[in-house]
Amino acid sequence: MLNTDILIIGSGCSGLYTALKLPRDRKILIITKSDAESCDSFLAQGGICVLKDPKDYDSYFEDTMRAGHYENDRKSVEIMIRSSQKVIQNLLDVGVDFHRDADGNLDYTREGAHTHKRILFHEDETGKEITKHLLAAARALPNVTLLEYTTMLDLVEENNTCYGAVIKTADGKIETVQADFTIMATGGVGGLYEHSTNYRHLTGDGVAMAIRQGLRLRDVNYVQIHPTTFYTTNPEDRSFLISESVRGEGAKLYDKNMNRFADELMPRDKMTEAIRKQMAKDGTDFVWEDLRPIPYEERHAHFPNIIAHCLEMGYDPDKEPIPVVPAQHYYMGGVWVDHESKTSMDRLYAVGETACNGVHGKNRLASNSLLESMVFAGRAADDLMASYGTVRKNPELFDKVDLDQYRDEDALMKLYADLVRKEIEKADQKMQIIEDKETAEAADLPPAIHHRGDKQPAAPRQITA
Ligand SMILES: Cc1cc2nc3c(=O)[nH]c(=O)nc-3n(C[C@H](O)[C@H](O)[C@H](O)COP(=O)(O)OP(=O)(O)OC[C@H]3O[C@@H](n4cnc5c(N)ncnc54)[C@H](O)[C@@H]3O)c2cc1C
Repeated sequence: MLNTDILIIGSGCSGLYTALKLPRDRKILIITKSDAESCDSFLAQGGICVLKDPKDYDSYFEDTMRAGHYENDRKSVEIMIRSSQKVIQNLLDVGVDFHRDADGNLDYTREGAHTHKRILFHEDETGKEITKHLLAAARALPNVTLLEYTTMLDLVEENNTCYGAVIKTADGKIETVQADFTIMATGGVGGLYEHSTNYRHLTGDGVAMAIRQGLRLRDVNYVQIHPTTFYTTNPEDRSFLISESVRGEGAKLYDKNMNRFADELMPRDKMTEAIRKQMAKDGTDFVWEDLRPIPYEERHAHFPNIIAHCLEMGYDPDKEPIPVVPAQHYYMGGVWVDHESKTSMDRLYAVGETACNGVHGKNRLASNSLLESMVFAGRAADDLMASYGTVRKNPELFDKVDLDQYRDEDALMKLYADLVRKEIEKADQKMQIIEDKETAEAADLPPAIHHRGDKQPAAPRQITA
């Protein structure tokens, strides 16, 4: 059995930020299923939102709520926005280099559904810039150990209190880890989908553990589809994202006849719906995105990696539009947490994309997730330290754990994936029944009463068998 004070599952921005916010006199073990760089935090292109000016508060709040169909937890949104400058300062302190204007001031971009420019960025690799610095800072700490290719297989729990986890280490050994607190930072669910921008190994493991242990979940079927990923018929590991900031800076979408068909700055779910509708109408597998309306200098300075990918795939964005198609991208739902990132199990926290504090509602506003991940990771660290005095260890429990049941990792992972898929499908069906009922009821009412501006079809069902 391994022993640590705090166990963090996942080395994305949420897991690393938590580690950095914890005091240096605590022993911290971070485990990650793959190598430390293979996480969605490294893939984030567009940027990270910040309240750049107090005068922007109402507008930022409203943009987040509108994108989320007003199903957002208002308190979570408020916490995220009010804490944003502190997070950005912490990132600057660890050496993150955001784009600056000619005078050396922080420069901002804009993405779909944002009323104003309020997104900090580093070329089109903001996530890599942020996460590599967090990783370097965490690696430099003597109290932090990072184990790569080490997978959490289960939580160790008694009477709804978490005492640690069962893990499989890089050399194939199955072990238990005893910890005073455990933090799940296991990312999204894209690996369950045939087409996704996420890493394939991100299969909602934290959510699966939560389902297995009967923990509370929230908005479990709220899955975001990104409107624009590069269309290719070549088999790809994951769909390549064409960031929304490309449209934010002026790129246009065209149908098969090279005519515009929608407002390019709509929120993601509406944009996806418009693209799908157009594809169905045209009988095509993609629509076109034209980057040429973005001035040449800006295009190349801001989006060098997107341009390089298009060239690699045989399209020159300086000369022609590129084919794009929607794909699974982000998980708004997940393990229910309160405003301090506490799950419904004692001494177990969840942060980042795995967790759901309701901040995104039904649809995430672009560039809110890196920020949300780190704001609520910081709160988890603070809350956990405040309650440290209550911790009692339970070493006898570990003698009772039957490690044999974890030997067949493939079967276990399949079981976990099925648990998550079924939960999403179940919630989808429930939502559909409610919506059908509402539609039927609304049909009997006069139009002025039954109109609902926020009504949307159920979250897209794309789950692979
Ligand atoms: C292509 C792309 C572009 C994006 N662009 C933006 C953007 O511009 N702005 C923005 O705000 N957001 C963006 N996002 C979303 C954002 O990157 C993620 O929501 C955020 O990084 C999630 O961070 P995380 O720490 O929760 O998860 P991740 O960074 O995905 O990390 C999850 C970690 O958990 C580990 N893990 C999973 N299961 C296990 C297990 N069983 N055992 C051990 N370890 C496990 C993984 O190995 C990984 O280390 C983008 C996402 C993608 C995919």
